[in-house]
Amino acid sequence: MTLWYAGIFTLSSFVAFLSFSMLMAGVVSKRAEEDLQSDVAEFSSIFASKGIDGLKAEISREAASDGVDKVFLRLLATNGDQLASSDMASWRNIGIDRTALKRAAGGDSCIFETVSLPEKEPDVRVVYGLIAPGKVLQIGELEEDDQFIEAFWEGLGIEMTALILFAALIGWFMARRALSGLEEVTRTAEEISNGALERRAPIKARGVELDRLATTFNGMLDRIRDLIASMREMSDNIAHDLRSPITRIRGVAEMTLTTGKTVSEYETMAASTIEECDQLLTMINTMLEISEAELGTQKLEMQEVDVAKVVQDACELFEPLAEDQNISIYAEIPESCFVRGDIRKLQRLLANLLDNAVKYTSSGGTVTVSVDQKDDEATISVKDTGAGMSEDDLPHIFDRFYRCDRSRSKPGVGLGLSLVRATVKAHGGKINVASSPGEGSTFEISFPRSTRKQL
Ligand code: ADP
Repeated sequence: MTLWYAGIFTLSSFVAFLSFSMLMAGVVSKRAEEDLQSDVAEFSSIFASKGIDGLKAEISREAASDGVDKVFLRLLATNGDQLASSDMASWRNIGIDRTALKRAAGGDSCIFETVSLPEKEPDVRVVYGLIAPGKVLQIGELEEDDQFIEAFWEGLGIEMTALILFAALIGWFMARRALSGLEEVTRTAEEISNGALERRAPIKARGVELDRLATTFNGMLDRIRDLIASMREMSDNIAHDLRSPITRIRGVAEMTLTTGKTVSEYETMAASTIEECDQLLTMINTMLEISEAELGTQKLEMQEVDVAKVVQDACELFEPLAEDQNISIYAEIPESCFVRGDIRKLQRLLANLLDNAVKYTSSGGTVTVSVDQKDDEATISVKDTGAGMSEDDLPHIFDRFYRCDRSRSKPGVGLGLSLVRATVKAHGGKINVASSPGEGSTFEISFPRSTRKQL
């Protein structure tokens, strides 16, 4: 990265310097031409005031002061004859451009040209300017702009090298600083993949982006850790719930084998095995049903369902059980309330909620089931005055196999509410729960009422 930046920096500096030097060369050469033009004008006025002798003296004086090997001046007749000149010893090879001479003699502007002489370095800038009728002054001088550009490039070479080294050093330092945070995150990821699951990326004040990356990375790791923990807890629960019926089946079979003698004892064993197996199958099927509903692969037989009727039937179904436990069930339902749904799934959903409400409410308590219809949704609420749930338990009650009652004194495997939530989700509804320990719980489910919505 540092090399890339240094390369880009070098290239752009080079382009910037190149355009600057070209601009400067243009300015310098324009200045030189203006100087030559004003020289021609000056000599023209000298010729007018002091005549040819005054002009000759001035030509020699001017060339001597600037250096006879750097500057020459020649007064030419329009046919090319030389009327006067400065010391031309070092300018033997400089010729007369007849065309330029003619053009200068004929017009009122100066004619410029650049001449290369093998013995002279740099090139010579030559001007032909009319100073009097029939008299053209030719002035030549070494191009200063060439020298300027040469000096400029020489200086530039040294400065550019120093600048590039400096920029590369600064770039390297800054890239190292910027990437050091990334390296730490990478190192942490490597350590975690090697087994140090509790390692986290350090968060220092290195820049907003890197700290955000480290925070997000750590957040992701915490989430994965929580997920692994809940999966572990779930698999422990599954193992526990599978072990109990299998242990019972084994116990009954072993006892029948060692002590059982009659056919009826063997029949009892077979019946108990079937019952236990049915329970196991129900559990496994419920797990599969939850997965299908959550994934959206479950087949729903959608139709217009009167949930008021479904609630009424469910209440009647649980009435005897509630009565046995001295619990009153109240139903506050309208005459009818239609939603689109799978009636069997909705019946099962209500059965699960009512079963829990009765199961976790002690004698003398009440369970109130109500249906409330608004324009766009129907809300079923199941409220009890039972045990309630703690704030710590509430976020987990919809997890598979989660049971708040750690002692597992009540029957159940912790799949009922998972199925309820999956069914609500499959019907495009919402579920809310409010609960406080010792005071009871309220489960509230809302379904969209729009008949046009195909679920
Ligand atoms: P379970 O088969 O144990 O009833 P659920 O998934 O239906 O499983 O419920 C999960 C847990 O939520 C239950 O074990 C229970 O602790 C708690 N719970 C559910 N409904 C209620 C309720 N109405 N009152 C108190 N606790 C409840």
